[in-house]
Amino acid sequence: MKKRVNRFLEELQERVFVCDGAMGTVLYTKGIFINRCLEELNLSMPSLVKEVHEAYVTAGAEILETNTFGANAFRLAPHGLAEKCREINQAGVRLARQCGGEAALVAGAVGPLGVRLEPLGPCSPESAAEAFREQIQALAEAGVDLIFLETFYDLDEIHQAIAAAKGVCDLPVIAQVTIDDDGNMLSGTSPEKFTEKLTEWGADGIGCNCSVGPKVMLDTIRRMAPLGDRPFSAQPNAGLPVNVGGRNIYPYSPESMASYAQRFIQSGVKLLGGCCGTTPEHIRAIRDAVRAVEAPRLKRTAPRPAHVDS
Ligand SMILES: [Zn+2]
Repeated sequence: MKKRVNRFLEELQERVFVCDGAMGTVLYTKGIFINRCLEELNLSMPSLVKEVHEAYVTAGAEILETNTFGANAFRLAPHGLAEKCREINQAGVRLARQCGGEAALVAGAVGPLGVRLEPLGPCSPESAAEAFREQIQALAEAGVDLIFLETFYDLDEIHQAIAAAKGVCDLPVIAQVTIDDDGNMLSGTSPEKFTEKLTEWGADGIGCNCSVGPKVMLDTIRRMAPLGDRPFSAQPNAGLPVNVGGRNIYPYSPESMASYAQRFIQSGVKLLGGCCGTTPEHIRAIRDAVRAVEAPRLKRTAPRPAHVDS
C-alpha cells in the first residue's frame, strides 16, 4: 500500500491524472430523492453507486472518489445514521475499489461537517477534529489510496481536516476549497492566503472544486500558481445550475468543460476532474483533451532505450 502511494505522489509530479465527475447530481438523475442521505446508499443500494463509478471508469477516470462526501457524524446524525459512520465509509471504499480495479486509484472523499466552527457556530475545534478523525480513519483502514478534502469554505475547518488526516494516516492529502465569483473562499479568504496556508499545513496537493464553473477556477488557479509548490487540482462544477421548468440545467457541456483542460494543465494542474453537474460524458471529453495535451509531451520526455555496448 505504502509503495503504491509513494509512486502516486511521484507520478503526480510528472503527469496529469483524470479524476471522476459528480456523484450526487448523477444519483439525482437516477431518481434518488434530494433529501435522502446519499452516503447511506453505499449500504442500501450498492449497485446504484457502483453503476456511477463504473460509468466513470469506462469514461477514463483514473481516480474514483468514494461516495462519502457527507459521511461524518455531524451530517449523518439528522438521518439517525451517526452510529454507522464507519460502516458507510468502509462500504464506500469497497464499492469504488471493486469498480476501479487496476484501472483507477480510490480517493476517500471528505467534505465539511455541515456545522459552523466556533466562534461563528457551535462546533468546537476539538469536536470537529474528532469527527474528521473518525471518518478519515475508517477510509484509511478500508484501503483508500489518498484523501480528497473537498468543497471547504472555511479555512479553520479545512485546517482541522488536514491535521486530522495527517494524524491518523500517512496517505497523500489533496486539500480543495470552493470559491465564489471573485476567487475567494465563501468566508472571504483570498486565493493567495489559502494557497499559503494549505501549503504551510502540509497538504500534498491543493486546489479548488465545485464553485462557479471552470472559468473562474482557471483564473484562480493562475493566481495560486506563483505561490504554491504543490501539484494543483481543479474539479469545477459544470457552472451554476439554471432552473428550467423545475429541472436544474448545468450550462457547461462536456466539450465546453474540456476546452479548459489545456489551460488548466499549463497552469500546473495535475488532478483534473469535475463536480456537480458533470457526468461521465464530461469526464470522457476531459480525458480526450488531457490526452491530446499530454501525449506529445510524454513522448518527448520518454526515457531513451539504454545504451547497449556491443
Ligand atoms: Zn459540487
